[in-house]
Amino acid sequence: MVRVRFAPSPTGPLHIGGVRTALYNYLFARQQGGKMILRIEDTDQTRFVPGAEQYIIEAFQWLGIEFDEGVHIGGPYGPYRQSDRKALYRQYADQLLAGGWAYYAFDTPEALDAKRKEYEAEKKTFQYDCTTRLGMCNSLALPADEVQRRLDSGDPYVLRFRFPENTDITVHDLIRGDVTMNSRLLDDKVLFKSDGMPTYHLANIVDDHLMEITHVIRGEEWLPSAPLHIMLYEAFGWQAPQFAHLPLLLKPDGNGKLSKRDGDRLGFPVFPLEWHDPKSGETSNGYREQGYLPQAVVNMLALLGWNPGNDQELMTMDELIRLFSIEHISKNGAKFNLDKARWFQHEYFQQLSDDTVADMLDTQVKSHGIEAPHEYVVKVASMMKERITFPGELWDTCSYFFQAPTEYNEKDVAKRWQPGMEGHMAKVIEILETVPFEYDALHQALLEDYIKANQLNTGAIMNSLRLAVVGRTVGPDMLTLVLMLGKDEVIRRIQRAIETIGN
Ligand code: GLU
Repeated sequence: MVRVRFAPSPTGPLHIGGVRTALYNYLFARQQGGKMILRIEDTDQTRFVPGAEQYIIEAFQWLGIEFDEGVHIGGPYGPYRQSDRKALYRQYADQLLAGGWAYYAFDTPEALDAKRKEYEAEKKTFQYDCTTRLGMCNSLALPADEVQRRLDSGDPYVLRFRFPENTDITVHDLIRGDVTMNSRLLDDKVLFKSDGMPTYHLANIVDDHLMEITHVIRGEEWLPSAPLHIMLYEAFGWQAPQFAHLPLLLKPDGNGKLSKRDGDRLGFPVFPLEWHDPKSGETSNGYREQGYLPQAVVNMLALLGWNPGNDQELMTMDELIRLFSIEHISKNGAKFNLDKARWFQHEYFQQLSDDTVADMLDTQVKSHGIEAPHEYVVKVASMMKERITFPGELWDTCSYFFQAPTEYNEKDVAKRWQPGMEGHMAKVIEILETVPFEYDALHQALLEDYIKANQLNTGAIMNSLRLAVVGRTVGPDMLTLVLMLGKDEVIRRIQRAIETIGN
C-alpha cells in the first residue's frame, strides 16, 4: 500500500513550489490507490507562525487536493502534528546513543561561533564532522567521567549524528538515479535540541517510519539531507522509503529559485491564497484572490516539472491522476511562466457554464446599483466570456450592456468621428425609428441602402456608432449589440453622443 505525505513546516504561507510538491504526492497516491497524509512539522518553535497551519489546510481545500489522514482530519497514525508527538522522540534518540550513532555535544553557541570565525579568518568554512569533532566539546572527545559530570549537573547539550568516517552513502532517487556522497562532506547534524525537541531530521525519519510512509516525494532542497536520512534508517535498522527529489521551481528567466520578490516585481502571486503576515502586517497576493480558478492553478503547477509524455496541456485532476508518473518528472528546474499561467486561466474560464459566469457578472452589476433580468445577464455572459480571463475583468468588459457610456475614448473620437458625423448619426436614429427592429432589416437599411448606396465610409460610421453606444471602439457585433440594448436605449445613447462629441 502506497503511503505518501506532505510535511510542511508552519513558518508562513505555502509557496506554490510546496503546493506542487503536495500535488505530485496527491496524484501519485490517488493513482496508486494509496493514502495521502498531511503532517505538520513544527519542531522548530522559533520559526512557528500563527495561522500558517490553518492557511495550509485552507489552501488545499481550495485547490481540491484531499488528504486521507492528517492534522485536520485525524487518522490511525496520529497525532499528525510533531509538537503533539514530542514525548515520542526521546526514546529514538536514546536508541541512537546506545548504538553509538549519536553523541552528546556540549558546545555553547558562543564556542561554535568562535570556531566559525577562526575558520573564516583562514578563508575556510567550519563544519562539525568526522574530521573536526574530536576537537570539540562532546562525548567523543571528552573523558567519560567528564561527560557524566556534565550530564549530572544538567549542562545543556544537543545530540548529534555520528557519521561513519570516509563512507560513501548512496541515495537511490527515483528521478535522479543514484546520488552518492561521502560522509567526509556531511556534517554531524543535530538530532535533538537542548529544548527537549527533536530536529526536523530525527522527527521526520521517526514519523515517516511510524506512519509507514513508502515514498518520500519532496523538493530538491532536501537532497543534501537525504544521505543523513538514509543513514538514520540504517542506524535504526528500518527499511527506508523510496525517495524522489523534485526539481526546483525557477524564476521566469531561469536564474534561481522562484521567490516572493519575483512575484511582487513581475506581478504574479507565489502563494495560493492571500496571506496577512501577523508580524509585519504585510499582505501577500494569492491566486485565489486574483481570480484564478483552482483547476487552472493545479493544471499549471502539474506541468511545471512534469509532462504526460506528449504535448497535451489541458488536464483535469482526474486526467492528471490517470496520466501521472514519476518517470516523467524532469531533473531540471522548471521556469515559472506567467503567460502560461494566464493561458490556463483563460482556458478554464471558458469551461465555466454561462450561468456561472452570469452569477459572477450579476454580482458586479448589482454592486454598481444596477438590476438586470437574469436571462439578459446570461446572454451577456455567454457573448462576452471568450474575452475574459479573470472574473475581475467582467464589469469593465461588459459595463456598456448595463449602463450608457459617460465618456468617449478621445483617441477613437479623433480617429473616427469625422466632420459631419452628427448628420450620419441622425440618419442612424431615423433608420432605427422607421425600419423593423430586427437584424436583417437593420443591416439592409443601414449598411446597404444608406452607407453602401451613398458610397460612405463604413468603418467611420460603424465605429462612430460604436463610440456612441459603447464609449470606445471595442465590443461584439454592432447590430447584435443594438438589438440587445433595445431601440430606445440605443437612440438615447446616439443622441447623447451627438450632443457631447458634437460640441
Ligand atoms: N518539513 C519539511 C519542509 O518544510 C519537509 C521536508 C520533507 O518532506 O522531508 O519542507
